[in-house]
Amino acid sequence: MSGVSDITDDEVDVFYKKLKKQIESVGYHLNPDVDFTKELLRSIIVNEKRYGYGACPCRLASGDKTEDYDIVCPCDYRDPDLTDYGACYCGLYVSGKILSGEDKLTSIPERRPSPDERVEERAKLKAQQATETISTLKMPVWRCKVCGYLCAREEPPEICPICKVSKVRFERFI
Ligand code: SF4
Repeated sequence: MSGVSDITDDEVDVFYKKLKKQIESVGYHLNPDVDFTKELLRSIIVNEKRYGYGACPCRLASGDKTEDYDIVCPCDYRDPDLTDYGACYCGLYVSGKILSGEDKLTSIPERRPSPDERVEERAKLKAQQATETISTLKMPVWRCKVCGYLCAREEPPEICPICKVSKVRFERFI
């Protein structure tokens, strides 16, 4: 099983540079504390190797990808936490105001629902989807759960053109 010490600095550097370029092109910012940021990225690589997906470095992953889609980095909670607190739960992503020093980082409460609440939410969503109609639309509308990007097409795109997450992170919106 991989641990943080099995990940080379080169691997982390490559990931850091790639992610920084990718997210800055769509308006996001990594924490300017490079050492801190790289340690979080190292943990994401460990999770990727351990579970097959880059689970959030600050949360306990279940090892079941379908259970953990909401906490595959970037998680579903990143954007609301950036809006409310200026940073994601781990502090990997920060707002422009935190980056410029205009705002200070504070502690960020966990927004992820409890396991029971998640089961309830999934059941509710399933029931909603079973009863909704799209009679006035030619095709369904899909919403990226990470950045909110909307698109009307038969299937969600392979990759979100805005935040680059994969199609599994889309939900049926209408
Ligand atoms: S965006 Fe932040 S809080 Fe969300 S999974 Fe990534 S590191 Fe964790």
